Amino acid sequence: MNFISTRNAAEAVSSAEAILTGLSSDGGLFVPTAFPSINVLDYLPLSYEALAAKVLALFLTDYDASFLATATQTAYAPERFSQKAGYTKKVADGLYALELWHGPTCAFKDYALQLMPHLLVQAKQMLHKTDITKILVATSGDTGKAALAGYADIKGVHVTVFYPEAGTSELQRLQMVTQQGENVDVYAVKGNFDDAQTGVKKVFTNSDLAREFKCKGETLSSANSMNWGRLVPQIVYYIYSYCALVNSGEIAIGEKVDFCVPTGNFGDILAGYYAKQMGLPIGKLICASNKNNVLTDFIRTGHYDARREFYKTTSPSMDILVSSNLERLLYHLSGDTAAVSNWMRELNETGHYTVSAAVLQALQESFACDYATDAEVNEEIKHQYEAHHYLCDTHTAVAFLAAARTKRQARACVVVSTANPYKFPIAVLSALGASVNGDDFAALQALEKLTGLSAPSSLSALSSLPVRFTKSIAPQEIAAAALCQI
Ligand SMILES: *Cc1c(COP(=O)(O)O)cnc(C)c1O
Repeated sequence: MNFISTRNAAEAVSSAEAILTGLSSDGGLFVPTAFPSINVLDYLPLSYEALAAKVLALFLTDYDASFLATATQTAYAPERFSQKAGYTKKVADGLYALELWHGPTCAFKDYALQLMPHLLVQAKQMLHKTDITKILVATSGDTGKAALAGYADIKGVHVTVFYPEAGTSELQRLQMVTQQGENVDVYAVKGNFDDAQTGVKKVFTNSDLAREFKCKGETLSSANSMNWGRLVPQIVYYIYSYCALVNSGEIAIGEKVDFCVPTGNFGDILAGYYAKQMGLPIGKLICASNKNNVLTDFIRTGHYDARREFYKTTSPSMDILVSSNLERLLYHLSGDTAAVSNWMRELNETGHYTVSAAVLQALQESFACDYATDAEVNEEIKHQYEAHHYLCDTHTAVAFLAAARTKRQARACVVVSTANPYKFPIAVLSALGASVNGDDFAALQALEKLTGLSAPSSLSALSSLPVRFTKSIAPQEIAAAALCQI
């Protein structure tokens, strides 16, 4: 299968090229030229690893099937995932949580970033590239750690992560600065997430710097969700979760299920849309947002308007006003690269654009939406705990609420649960009505005591791990840090 840019259908690349280059040279994102179709019956008996290899093979046709089988077995092995990958828990009748946070960094990004290093290294081999791949990541928390954990000690790759000095939770910061591995670097940036992100983007677009990296035998690459290699592993858990509901007798085969997804950059929910296009019986994909509800407005009206106040919320991984992967959906709904280019140019120049009535109708056929404020999130965490004895994090609570509010027909609904509640212990503890004294670790222990559920050891152990990275730099120093000149 080949991949084209959302902004230019003329040039097609292989999946290895799409994964290695990340973004198309015209600024567009790579999309598959067709959707392979699946028969759910064939997938019912498969383990997560086997199902993943089968789905990947449909898109990554230039990769060897035995390579994909080994890669998925390694990425989703029990020593990395404390609970079986794709675990779907029944919360109440007709309501389920697809818990994607049992991996090494306790957030759903592990599903993509544990596998992607294998895909990247293999792509380099297939394309005869021998230079060092230098991965630069600007992060507000979860992506940085997941990328560090995924790429640590992978040969031929070096990862440098930049996080805003006061912009992450204490646990998220410690997860990053205690990372092991010979090929990783972590810097605090004096500024907010935008300062870090802008600094990293400048490095990517500076041709003088590109030459300097080249002289060092390095080629830049990114690990964010605009890369196709991050998207394709996420299709897998929608199919696996559906099969698990059939296998446990919760639904009949062919019965439609809704998925509700806490959304930021639109990568996770887009993977759900791909599963639906491949023939998985999905009713609606419910796009759940926090107070940064630009997507809620867009799905309701067809007008995307980023000209609005940016809010810092208790679900920080969804604090985003420009959702990059929406561009891919616009291409699939319109099939029109010229229209997509125009919308993206308008967004860049004016901060907003409006899609056609036909695109809006197609959008609303597949997607529903709603949003929740921080106060509503607190109530929802408390409600899920009291009504169903289910402990969820702030991001997942946004989705539980959106699922309840858009409760359509009598269809079963799977809430995609994206982070371990212990990753945000202060917010979760105070939502349950307990008083919060002290730091994240004190809150974590208090939460364990209150609920009787133990925190993952990878989080509670952070307080005693040695801190390896202590440098704090100005945004102007990001290029020098990336070149290891600091
Ligand atoms: C990244 C993230 C999200 C948002 O996912 P997108 O693919 O960017 O929409 C939601 N919840 C958590 C916990 C995350 O880390």
